[in-house]
Amino acid sequence: MVAIPVPTEPRALAVAHGAIEEAAPSAIVSLIRTTRFIWPYQGPVSSYFGPGHPLGIDIEIKPGREFPIIASGAGTVEFAGGEACCEYGFYVVLGHSNGITTLYAHLSSFAVTVGQEVGQGDVIGYSGLTGKSTGPHLHFEISKDGSLLDPLRFLPAAYDLAGRQESTACTASASVLAPDSLAVMRFAPEFMPGLALKSATLIPESTGTNLEVHDNRPKGALTISFEEPAPKVARGGVIDRALVLQFANQDFETELNCKFVTPMNVTLANPPTFREELKRLPTPTPVRNRPVSTATPVPTATPRTLYSVLTPPKPTATPGKPATVTRNNAPASNTKPSAGASTPRPTPKRFG
Ligand SMILES: [Zn+2]
Repeated sequence: MVAIPVPTEPRALAVAHGAIEEAAPSAIVSLIRTTRFIWPYQGPVSSYFGPGHPLGIDIEIKPGREFPIIASGAGTVEFAGGEACCEYGFYVVLGHSNGITTLYAHLSSFAVTVGQEVGQGDVIGYSGLTGKSTGPHLHFEISKDGSLLDPLRFLPAAYDLAGRQESTACTASASVLAPDSLAVMRFAPEFMPGLALKSATLIPESTGTNLEVHDNRPKGALTISFEEPAPKVARGGVIDRALVLQFANQDFETELNCKFVTPMNVTLANPPTFREELKRLPTPTPVRNRPVSTATPVPTATPRTLYSVLTPPKPTATPGKPATVTRNNAPASNTKPSAGASTPRPTPKRFG
């Protein structure tokens, strides 16, 4: 069972009961964040995805010994093999949901075999210098349906974001969300007693964030979850977001604004400075202590309002060049290596 922190905030309750109307309501909630992909090795980026390194990113590995390389996401081992002399060297390909694959190159040895199911964080092999590699690094790729994508669109900005549960002051400070992640918030059963949840809205709005609301108060928790999608480009600042919850009874309405921020492309080589770059959202006018007109029907269903990624700054890539690069001679997406270490992959264009 998940321990729920003390949830209620005296001012909110006071507002709810009509006693005062000064401060905006606040709440302490349990927040669990999980990311679809995590860093396969904790090191700085030595090569970024782009024209000079079109297949993926390189993650620098400390010299001196072989380090475990972990599965970035849960999936199935589609390939584990290669040739020590050339190209990727020894490498592993994992298949994930939604047509996404990840590739881990220049390994010294394997910890998995083809067909094996792996969980996020499971060791799949050990770092090395096989293939075309001038120094110890992990070459890491993410592709979807055969098209290579910038892995930094999918990786969290810091190591500690994956699977972490924390208590957060919903309105006092912004909680950091990773790209391509799921946030689950749990409010305790006694939160906002006597007030029904009338709406839950993510601002800014868009599609695809799968906002889910389950209000089981007062017998159970109020649980709200939503997905943070991968941004369209990795470089581009910060997404600033609010989850606006409106509670009401016959006499009063009150509103709770939980704040979130998603830094994009804050790499391990370039530590976050996002707090200085925050773009504040236009804050909706708080509704406090305002009688709800009985003539206005209150919607019974919770609106599912979604958000859009803010328009990022101009991409650094040369105009006209595609954002994704397809591996040369790539097999049809439904073609998988049929055997283990002896099955070579088609020759990619670059292997650094
Ligand atoms: Zn590389």
